[in-house]
Amino acid sequence: MRIGMGYDMHRLVAGRRLILGGVEIPFEKGLLGHSDADVLTHAICDALLGAAGLGDIGCHFPDTDPTWADIESFKLLDQVREMISGNWVIANIDATVMAEVPKISPFREAMVSRLAAVLRLNPVQINIKATTVEELGAVGRGEGIAAQCVVLLRSAAAAASS
Ligand code: MG
Repeated sequence: MRIGMGYDMHRLVAGRRLILGGVEIPFEKGLLGHSDADVLTHAICDALLGAAGLGDIGCHFPDTDPTWADIESFKLLDQVREMISGNWVIANIDATVMAEVPKISPFREAMVSRLAAVLRLNPVQINIKATTVEELGAVGRGEGIAAQCVVLLRSAAAAASS
């Protein structure tokens, strides 16, 4: 078994859609980035890549490469799933979204079901938590949204024989 962690943060700006965990959340601002800046999905990609010993999202999908401009982060997540799937199966994913605004919890279930579909998991294998940061720091001032994630991978060979 291998554990991996991921962390990401993006800036909230006017004129962008807010996508978190593949779900569009109605809000006056969205996250700024080269892709759709889905900070939760990026943290999950990094946790999966980290657990598999495959570096990070930036080395596979560099933001200097126009191929990844404005790409849906779920497409990157699907590619990450594909990269690890030969050797690993996902035991569980646990993530936290840190945002002062907007309120994330009403969208949690939709995020879990979208993530489960792309990762081909049972929704019970995915847990998403949401917290504010008590108005502290950049996230607390509503300047951005951050996400953290841990995943546990089991070797595909061991999973097949159990
Ligand atoms: Mg990112």
